[in-house]
Amino acid sequence: MARIKMVAGNWKMNKTLQEGVALAAQLKEDVKNPKCAVVIGTPFIHLATVAEMLKGSPIKVAAENCADKEKGAFTGEVSAEMVKSTGAEYCILGHSERRAYYHEDYEILKNKVELALANGLKVIFCIGEVKEEREAGKQNEVVKAQLEGSVFHLSAEAWKNIVLAYEPVWAIGTGLTATPAQAQDMHAYLRGLVAKQYGAQAAEDTTILYGGSCNEKNAAELFACPDIDGGLIGGAALVAEKFEAIIAAR
Ligand code: PEP
Repeated sequence: MARIKMVAGNWKMNKTLQEGVALAAQLKEDVKNPKCAVVIGTPFIHLATVAEMLKGSPIKVAAENCADKEKGAFTGEVSAEMVKSTGAEYCILGHSERRAYYHEDYEILKNKVELALANGLKVIFCIGEVKEEREAGKQNEVVKAQLEGSVFHLSAEAWKNIVLAYEPVWAIGTGLTATPAQAQDMHAYLRGLVAKQYGAQAAEDTTILYGGSCNEKNAAELFACPDIDGGLIGGAALVAEKFEAIIAAR
């Protein structure tokens, strides 16, 4: 995947099926010629309906998770193969809420990433430090360990299907956005790590999104930074006008 600019939404556990369909319908109507790639991450139950609705639209669909097992007796889980069969093209993995509340460690995420890629999904892989780690100046070592633990074992070919999302945990859903300088510093650091692992061209081609209280007011300033290729948007992705304004800012 060449370096593309992207705005991706993460609906989290919001919207009934009917509400999600209504939001997707409005986005389809309004977002016809975006200047960047547009992805919406929806709960599993929306995927098939929304992917079908958005056929022929530039908007792509992502799952917010997938199982770390291929198939079988794992009640309540949804496999990467099932996600792919809905028409979704992406899978968000490593979100800090999954890491914190569902104890997804490096190894679990490594399995999920491998299964998502093996089933033809592109992965939006989230990394980021918590507040205490930022205050202790440990943010670089934290994100490096997250990459080394779950994705840096991938081949150069597989890496082309990875989009990174830097999401400082202290900024998610808190209204506390990283400053453009803080975000740019981290994105440049991440691109440097990718360069060491996969080479300069791969680093140049890697899409790195910023996430964490990115909204229609601060998006343009963040997106103006050279290493910030777009955003992963939570709260503001639930309101069509706000999400569309962020897409327009990219
Ligand atoms: C997210 O959950 O990925 C996120 C960035 O949320 P918010 O935009 O609400 O901070």
